[in-house]
Amino acid sequence: MKTNENLPEAKTIVVVAMPQPITRLSFEWQGITYPADIPPDYFAKTSNESRAEGILTSVLETAGYKVVKAHLALKTLAVRSGLARYGRNNISYVPGMGSFCRLVAYYTDCPCEEEDWQESKAMEACENCSLCRENCSTGSITADRFLIHAENCLGSLTEREPDFPYWVQLQPDWHNALIGCMRCQFVCPVDRPYLRKIVAGPSFSEEETGLILNKTPLEKLSPETQQKLKISDGVYPFMAPNLSALIEKQRLAAQR
Ligand code: SF4
Ligand code: SF4
Repeated sequence: MKTNENLPEAKTIVVVAMPQPITRLSFEWQGITYPADIPPDYFAKTSNESRAEGILTSVLETAGYKVVKAHLALKTLAVRSGLARYGRNNISYVPGMGSFCRLVAYYTDCPCEEEDWQESKAMEACENCSLCRENCSTGSITADRFLIHAENCLGSLTEREPDFPYWVQLQPDWHNALIGCMRCQFVCPVDRPYLRKIVAGPSFSEEETGLILNKTPLEKLSPETQQKLKISDGVYPFMAPNLSALIEKQRLAAQR
């Protein structure tokens, strides 16, 4: 396992899960307001994460231990430690949060007396359910294996520059998020209780939307616009084609 140079004496990895509901942004474009949802994974550090880090640091540092952030495979850690279970869609689900959660991990030199490292497990709910497989637009979830075909998943295809593959461009109906895809989460019965909670995010003016659609470099946007775009590092370059597809989908739906 990769160790952290900042804490070579680390003895334990702490994995934290915190609820992260869908956030709905809105974009003004050609006189119409278009909503656009962001899945939990695409946010830069949230206030919840700062709070979790603050609590962990204050508890462990008071006891004389050090804490540093760990950049590791979070889903795997959460599932192998027993904190989460995999869904058939290969997304990790945490009890009480569903898949609408955010994971973060830390190294500490505080020893762990009880460890519960275990085999990866799927949720029991998946045993008699195939809703995500039946509803995946790209057929990425198949019956013959547990691993999804990530190469076809919109989660990765919508992170391509300069645009999506042509066969995805031909399907405006597939787009359901400002980046990534949440279709398999929308249909998942385990996620049903968490879908109702949608947090209202910032609104972008006609001018701001135009700049984003025109792929204006992030650093050339005003500090206010940058502040509103609290997305993870590296996500911004993929926003223009995704936003354009989402606007087009909603525009076509309004014409029907
Ligand atoms: S939709 Fe059904 S099979 Fe898919 S992850 Fe949810 S419970 Fe599991
Ligand atoms: S994120 Fe979308 S494309 Fe990927 S498996 Fe789920 S439904 Fe299919």
